[in-house]
Amino acid sequence: MIPSALPDAATFDAAALRADFPILQQQVNGHPLVYLDSGATSQKPRQVLQAEYDFLTRSNAAVHRGAHTLAAEATDLFEDARTAVARFVGALPEQLVWTAGATLGLNLVAYAIGNATVGRGAPASARFALTAGDEIVTTEIEHHANLIPWQELAARTGATLRHIPVHDDGTLDLDAAAGIIGERTRIVAFTHVSNVLGIVNPVAEIVSLAQAVGALTVLDACQSAPHLPLDLPALGVDLAVFSGHKMLGPYGVGGLYGRSEILEALPPFLTGGSMITTVTLDEAGYLPPPQRFEAGTQPIGPAIGLAAAVSYLQDAGLESVHAHEVRLAERMRAGLVEIPGIRLLGDAEGVERVGLWAFDVEGVHAHDAGQFLDAQGIAVRVGHHCAAPLHRRFGMTASVRASLALYNTESDVDAFLDAVSGIRTYFG
Ligand code: PLP
Repeated sequence: MIPSALPDAATFDAAALRADFPILQQQVNGHPLVYLDSGATSQKPRQVLQAEYDFLTRSNAAVHRGAHTLAAEATDLFEDARTAVARFVGALPEQLVWTAGATLGLNLVAYAIGNATVGRGAPASARFALTAGDEIVTTEIEHHANLIPWQELAARTGATLRHIPVHDDGTLDLDAAAGIIGERTRIVAFTHVSNVLGIVNPVAEIVSLAQAVGALTVLDACQSAPHLPLDLPALGVDLAVFSGHKMLGPYGVGGLYGRSEILEALPPFLTGGSMITTVTLDEAGYLPPPQRFEAGTQPIGPAIGLAAAVSYLQDAGLESVHAHEVRLAERMRAGLVEIPGIRLLGDAEGVERVGLWAFDVEGVHAHDAGQFLDAQGIAVRVGHHCAAPLHRRFGMTASVRASLALYNTESDVDAFLDAVSGIRTYFG
């Protein structure tokens, strides 16, 4: 999408929003903090902290089984939070499973499929069982969280892992994908937006390749949920995950969305209290989704905090947030390409993007560059960003990543560019 075609970019008032983020008011190393690490974790507005505080100081109780007033209040708040977060991604409450985050959500899916293969899953879950010769497809650009659970599943079941390659410009090779996704493909797991490249991947094309062969689709929506209007059912994926802490919410909570038909047939991953109907010493019956996937006491306060976070994002307006962040990313790109020795990753033309850039500074290790920026109050991420295979593909071991959120401003970007332009001279 072309930034100038996006609505409201010029009128979005990030400076006013910043008042809700106390952490952004501070100085770091004698400079005003310029926080450009929201891809790793976002900052949290007062409203989120207040929602958790209110819950813990007024209504705290374990949910669902209590006969007392606080338990009923907590249950209402917890289930209302589920409805709000489900709605945020276009889903129904019963299609949203609470998880501890995206990593947990992806492991949940991979282990549940493993249980369909070797466990005691319901007859309906036999359709997910994998055998030797079946193929699991991911991509070269995945975060380790959407790679290693599939490696483990392949090792446990004898399935084969295959990967959709990435072009030099950071776009996925869809021609290759069409050759890789075939009759043997059972699962296609891919990211909506790479946490290194910032490119919005063509979900519809990949889903249609997967659907043509009856494969299950699993989307990692970690880096899109805080930045774009998201309608997971409309994207057509079977399952999708996201992390609360990356979308202005608390740590320790996230969501797994699933099409009802899929969640109903999938066996559980974790078992124990809260997910059962009847239990004898020898066996147990399981509740329908989402509770079937929510063994044990859930992150109740964090879920309520996450509902406040999505409400904050909705009040800001996801279209406007996206337009604002894309505009800042364009400003960042325009400055970075003028600085000698900077090589951007994923600088493809004509693609839709979110607001992040990873780059290499010629002759300077990413960690040195990161420390140089930190000395000026600028927080960026350095390393492989849990995407080591992608960095290897680009012939590098580490990069510097600057990632934006709705609370960033033009002056953040300008301070960043000013500092980046001094890196090579300093290490010269
Ligand atoms: N997927 C992507 C694309 C990510 O960027 C991240 C976090 O960096 C994850 C998955 C894992 O998220 P979490 O650590 O919150 O489980």
